[in-house]
Amino acid sequence: MAGIYFHIPFCKTRCAYCDFLSSTALGGHSEYVDALCRELQNRCDYLGNLPVETIYFGGGTPSQLSAAAFEKIFAAIVRSSGAQQPFPSPEITLEANPDDLTDACLDSLRSLPFNRLSIGIQSFDAAELRFLHRRHDAHAAVQAVERAQRYGFDNISIDLMYGLPHQTLATWQATLDQAIRLGVQHISAYHLIYEEGTRLHQWLKQGKIAPLDEETSLKMFEMLIDTLAEAGFRQYEISNFALPGRESRHNSAYWSGRHYLGIGAAAHSYNGISRQWNAAIPTAEYLNHTPEIEFLDETTAYNDFIITRLRTMRGINLNELTALCGEQQKNACLQQAQRYLDSGRLALTEDSHLRLTRAGIFISDGIMADLMR
Ligand code: SF4
Repeated sequence: MAGIYFHIPFCKTRCAYCDFLSSTALGGHSEYVDALCRELQNRCDYLGNLPVETIYFGGGTPSQLSAAAFEKIFAAIVRSSGAQQPFPSPEITLEANPDDLTDACLDSLRSLPFNRLSIGIQSFDAAELRFLHRRHDAHAAVQAVERAQRYGFDNISIDLMYGLPHQTLATWQATLDQAIRLGVQHISAYHLIYEEGTRLHQWLKQGKIAPLDEETSLKMFEMLIDTLAEAGFRQYEISNFALPGRESRHNSAYWSGRHYLGIGAAAHSYNGISRQWNAAIPTAEYLNHTPEIEFLDETTAYNDFIITRLRTMRGINLNELTALCGEQQKNACLQQAQRYLDSGRLALTEDSHLRLTRAGIFISDGIMADLMR
């Protein structure tokens, strides 16, 4: 099984925390879509004979593209697969911003093969949304989800953000409660990161804002896990929670080492032997540059395996690790893991998986760094 990712690097305006590759320039959409279709045609052999199980449109703001643009891309997918019905039961996700999800937009999305929406909401708190420079307010966020549901979308994920300066435990709890009330199937929740080059990073350097203290951040993470567990969501990855059977198949594929083809500016691809990534130019011009490629040596393959598997609640399959890197490397990994096993941060399951415990989740970055070579 494999996946295809399309990067759509357009946004109406730039959010204060964002360092994703996207452009706020108007125009150039049609040339870019043509470039995506050409790239897909040129690289349709990349995944070999693996059946494509998931297609994901991320950004940027993919919901900025017109229905006609998506029709062109889906036609190119069908052409490059050489079949009328290329994928038996695919998961096809569109990342969307609440302000784009109007009646007209949802109506046209229903006529396209999308069966999953991932809506960038971040918060249901008016002041937090203003601080982040999001284009929607809390009311519009609720309406966008409800409207999508009315148009028949029954597999909806929303993105939330915590650890903001001035955010309180009470506003975070209110955001989580609102998310649950909406009846979405999946929630991704990320701690704010002050990425270099963003406005938030600049404000931080200028002393205009101060980061939230670590203790409150940790309490917010605990609140997230407990509140969503009570509402029936299963945490299946450090930042991802789903109702039973509603895990993101596309992202799960990344974390289980399945192959994927990335189409578009800055998109990454992986085929088990190498990783490659396209030029980070948010216009059709990206296609005029040769992608960078990195062949995976033993150390990189081992490190990738540790990072991708340990972040899932299933953990590292030690038998798979042995098959990939040998008995000696597996033993070295277990030796490194021992102090975390002793302190209850890692657990060894009966079916030979090394996984984070609840105490381990809170220091997962440090554990991963220690297990890496
Ligand atoms: S809409 Fe998304 S990609 Fe665009 S600037 Fe905001 S966070 Fe970044």
